[in-house]
This record gives sequence, structure tokens and C-alpha cells, in this order.
Amino acid sequence: MPRHLFVTTALPYANGNFHIGHIMEYIQADIWVRFQRMQGHAVDFVCADDTHGAPIMIAAEKAGKTPQQFVADIAAGRKPYLDGFHISFDNWHSTDAPENHALARQIYCDLRDIPESEGGSLIARKTIEQFFDPAKNMFLPDRFIKGECPKCHAKDQYGDNCEVCGAVYAPTDLIDPVSVLSGVRPELKSSEHFFFKLSDPRCVAFLQNWTQDGRLQPEVANKVKEWFSVRTNPDGSTSEGLGDWDISRDAPYFGIEIPDAPGKYFYVWLDAPIGYLASLKNLLDKRGQDYAAYMAQPDLEQYHFIGKDIVTFHTLFWPALLHFSGRKVPNKVFVHGFLTVNNGEKMSKSRGTGLDPLKYLSLGMNPEWLRYYLAAKLSARNEDIDFNADDFMARVNSDLIGKFVNIASRAAGFVQKHFNGQLSGAALWDSFKNTDGSESVQLPCMNNALMAADEIASCYDNREFSRGLRKVMELADGFNHYWDLNKPWELARGEDKEKLHVVCSVAIEGFRLLSLYLKPVLPKLAEQVEAFLNIPPMQWSDSRNRLGGHTIGTYAHLMQRVTPEQLDALFDPPAPIEIKLIPGGEAIAPTISIDDFVKIDLRIAKIVNCEAVEGSVKLLRLTLDVGEGRMRNVFSGIASMYKPEDLVGQLTVLVANLAPRKMKFGVSEGMVLAASHADEKAEPGIYILNPWPGAQPGMRIH
Ligand SMILES: [Zn+2]
Repeated sequence: MPRHLFVTTALPYANGNFHIGHIMEYIQADIWVRFQRMQGHAVDFVCADDTHGAPIMIAAEKAGKTPQQFVADIAAGRKPYLDGFHISFDNWHSTDAPENHALARQIYCDLRDIPESEGGSLIARKTIEQFFDPAKNMFLPDRFIKGECPKCHAKDQYGDNCEVCGAVYAPTDLIDPVSVLSGVRPELKSSEHFFFKLSDPRCVAFLQNWTQDGRLQPEVANKVKEWFSVRTNPDGSTSEGLGDWDISRDAPYFGIEIPDAPGKYFYVWLDAPIGYLASLKNLLDKRGQDYAAYMAQPDLEQYHFIGKDIVTFHTLFWPALLHFSGRKVPNKVFVHGFLTVNNGEKMSKSRGTGLDPLKYLSLGMNPEWLRYYLAAKLSARNEDIDFNADDFMARVNSDLIGKFVNIASRAAGFVQKHFNGQLSGAALWDSFKNTDGSESVQLPCMNNALMAADEIASCYDNREFSRGLRKVMELADGFNHYWDLNKPWELARGEDKEKLHVVCSVAIEGFRLLSLYLKPVLPKLAEQVEAFLNIPPMQWSDSRNRLGGHTIGTYAHLMQRVTPEQLDALFDPPAPIEIKLIPGGEAIAPTISIDDFVKIDLRIAKIVNCEAVEGSVKLLRLTLDVGEGRMRNVFSGIASMYKPEDLVGQLTVLVANLAPRKMKFGVSEGMVLAASHADEKAEPGIYILNPWPGAQPGMRIH
């Protein structure tokens, strides 16, 4: 029976590009979705940008853009990642889209207007005191307040917790608090906030059941269980289990205005998961399908893939909002751990560096290597996995290529050369004897491969990808053993061509089965295999068919090996900076599109300080203000033309999004634009750019 599945990944916050942690989640979900599609199930797989909240509002202001333009620019950069790693989303949308505004407001109204006969409203209003920035005229989120830790007295700590001693506290506990935005001391100001009554007995009863009825991973369910109990905190106070959830923020706020409450907006985490539904609705609208009818399908299954850092939102707030507003709740929430790189830095949502996905692609590294590698490490458990360069090379080269791809490359030539591309009849395969006389009735390699279809399917369905791939590699070992035992290279020189035919046909058939089993992980490779074997797109049920007597196509090389040089380049710090000169007397560079141009973020920079670099006659060290609230250190090869004191206080133009480069003298965080003749020796002189008066540090050059 075909099932109906609605599947999402967590919505990425639209304040930056994807990092490898996002890509890992998309690959995990994509493998699962592709497997379900191969089973003949109908899957709608959607995601969206999470666009609202104070951090984006403030980042947009700094970038000199409206929040809408800011998130649109981020969204425009998503495609190369998703296409590049073969992620098969059916739709990508935005939480700022009209569908999300309408759905969020409707869900809120449904919760607010629950009649007394059904227990009454689940929305409450309370007046709370909060820090307010009088210079910026806005309430400050915790992360925009800094001060001295009340516990260990470390300076410069955020308003929610201390990074030195780990203490968790309210921003009002900070000693000498300061607004990160303006530098002024924030004032306490009271404001009416809206709360979702998570502590209401109805919510508690519903969630105690919903989180413990087997739909969450056991380790996740156990963790969630702790949140319901009354417990004593280390400081002696008690926590009362679930507390009410503050769902409103005061203007100015980039978000969705709360109905009948001017100047009050939904907290970004209220409308973010509703973005799942908004993206789905947008997809259905495009197809001309009715959203309400779709959601009302009794057999519709809803699944969310998320990281372990956002479990609270998806196992408490989200199901409760849906249930009490009369909507369908998720069937399951699949939680994964973080990805670390070479046992190093944590790839959480907020801090992601180390393995740059676009750099990976730009080095010509095959995206399916990464898909295979991550699948080989991923299980259904909520645990961190590590990307290790040596392990990566071993798994790709020894397993994926050495054991699997090589089966085809070795057998295809014989089938083409001796049998015109036609495979032998399948009836012969199972009853053929090996050269040494063993295995008289059935070929164990073939038999095992045919019998494994259900086991591997169950591994995919249960997200035990690692176990599934181990099984596939075990089957590959079987076919390689069969091949080596029967020595087709010797058979090709002898008389027994029928035996050669069977051995090669068995190898090709085995390769087809393994390709089918790997198709959710390696969709592009599977397409190439389908072309090579001259067969229609493989479905899971094709594991029961046989290719006997079939004529295959021509073998073309399927996959390269990964090289140590590629991995070195992936993790090496970038090469030392060279000042790229604007050409003079040179041919104009090839035409680029506006999309290429907007990738380069040029900013007005104020030269706050400038000094000579000891040990270099060419370089000056510039300290630049690009309106980010911090200074940048940039080296520039202009010492022959300018004295440091001539430049201090001047404005110039900086390539602001160039990857930082490590140089002999320190890290250079960008590149100052300068003009010179193509032949510096013939026509010496290098001239930095100086904007027209009125330009301000941080302004973008369009
Ligand atoms: Zn502290």
C-alpha cells in the first residue's frame, strides 16, 4: 500500500550560508526520502528559510538592507548547496511568506479562542520586566546584553549564560549590563507579553503521553521526561516542570504581528515550525492541490528531521500548538547529533566552520562521496559523528570504489567484447559450479544479495544507514570473492566461453542489485548505472527481477577516487594573500552575471589605524572599521605608495566576504581594492580607492 508522507528538515536561520552541519541533516533526510520514494510511497519533502527575529533584523540594519532584502539575498545563495549535494526537496519557502503569516495567526487564534466548555483559552497575558535599550529604542534579546558574570565575575559575558563558568542566569542578574547594540546601559522596562500556557494540565497530560508513546527515539524520550518533573536546582530553587512559554516580542521586531495586539509580534520560534506547513501549502498551491484536504488525509504521516539542539521546540511547543489548535501532530521527530570534523570543532547551528561545503564542491570532490561517507556513519541514535579525513579516503576508495564500482568496471569489458553486451540466461546462474567444484546448487553471493532486500530496506526505513551500508559491502565482498575464485581473465583465454559468460553476467547482475540498494545514498551514480545497464529507473521492487538475457549498454567510468591532495586542499588554510590588481592594458575578463557579482560583498571601510609591517617592505597593516562593531585586520601591498599616517582616517573599499587568509604576519580579514598597471615594473604605482564624500563605513557597494 503506498503511504503518504510529509517530511521536513529543520529550517535554517537565514543569517548566513549553510555549513556542513546543515548539509549532513539534508543528506540524512534526503536518503530516507529517496528510499521511501523507491518503495512507491508518495513523499512531499519541504523546507524553508527561518527569517524572523532580532538577530536578522539587526544584521540587516548593519548590512544597510531591509530584513526582507537581507533574507532574500541569503535565500538566493541556497541553490548551489542543495543542487550540489543532490538534495531532492520538493519545495523551498520562507517563514516570511504570506502563507506563514496567515497560518501562524490562525493557529494563534485557534489557541486563544478555545471555548470554556473545552477548558478555555491557552493564551495568557502577563507583564514582565525586561532590559530596554534607550538609544536603540528597543527591548534587548538576551544575546544582545553583555556584562559581568554574577557567579565568577568574568567580564563581557552574554545575558543568558557565562562562557567562562557555565552559569545560567537571567540578563537582569548581570553586573554592569551593557547593550551590545549601542554600548549604553539598558534600562528595566515593563511590557505585556503573551504566553502559551504550556503548564496547563491539558498540555502537560497531552505531552506526557505524546513524548512517551514510542514516537521519539528512546534516548530523546528519556531526556524529555526529565522536563516534566519537579526538581531541585543546584542553587536550591525548584523548577516546576513545564513553564509557560513567552511567545511575544515588542516592536521593533522583524516578524508576524499578533492579531488584535498592535506592536506585538510572535517570537520567531512560534512561527518558525509553522513554516513547515506554509512551505507545504505553497507547494500544494503550485500544484493546484487543496491544503485542507491534504492535511485531512487520515493516512498522512508527518516527519521532522532535526538536530539535538532544538528538541524542546519540536517535542513540547510544536506538538502542543498543533494538537490544541485542532491540527495533525507529527508522527515522529528524528533527532540527530552534531558533526565534528577531524575530531575538532563542533558543527552546531550557530557555529559552523571547518569543512566548507562549497569549497568541497569547488575542489571537484564528488558530492556522493560525502553522501556515502555520512551514510556509513549515521545511525538512528541521537549521537555526534566525526568526519575524519583518513577514514573518508579509506571508505570512499577501498569500499565504495574498490569493492563496489570495480565489479562493473571489471565485468563490463568481457560482456561487451565476447558477448556483444548480452548477459547469459538467468536460469544458468544459480546452478553453476565454481571452478573448484564448490557451491553446486546456488551461488551464495547471488542468493545472499537477493535475500538481503528486506533487511536493507528495514535499515533505511529505521535510519540505520550505517548498518545497511555494512550489509551492502558484505554482499560486494561476496561477488568479489566469486569473481576472484572463477578467474574470468583465465576463462577468456580458454575454451569455456559459456562459463565466462555466466561469471560476468552474475557479476553484472550483482552490481545491479548493489546499485539498487545504494540508490538512496548515490542517486547520481544510480542514474549512470541505469544508463550503463540500459534499464529504467530502479525501484525497490526491481530487486526481485532478474536481468538474464538482457543487453546492457556501454560502460563509462563511474567514479574517481578521492586523492590526498584534495583532502589536503579541503582542510588547508587558504594560500597567502596576493593583491589582485585591477587590469590596465589587459583584456577585459570574461562576462559574468549579476549573480556572480553579488557574491562579492564590497564595503566602505574606514582606515582606523595603519602601520608598517616589520619584515616586509611591501605590506601595510590596516585596521578597518566596516560597521560591524569590531575591527578588521587587513594586509595590503601598498607600502611603496603610502605612508601609514597618510591613510589613517581615510575611507576605502574592502572585499568584505573574502575568506580570511593566514599570512606570515597574521590573518588578513579581507582585501582592499587598489588600481595599478598590468605591468608594475613598466608603470609603477598602486592606488587605493577612495569613495566620494558622504559614504559611511559598512555601506555596501552595489
Ligand atoms: Zn561565570
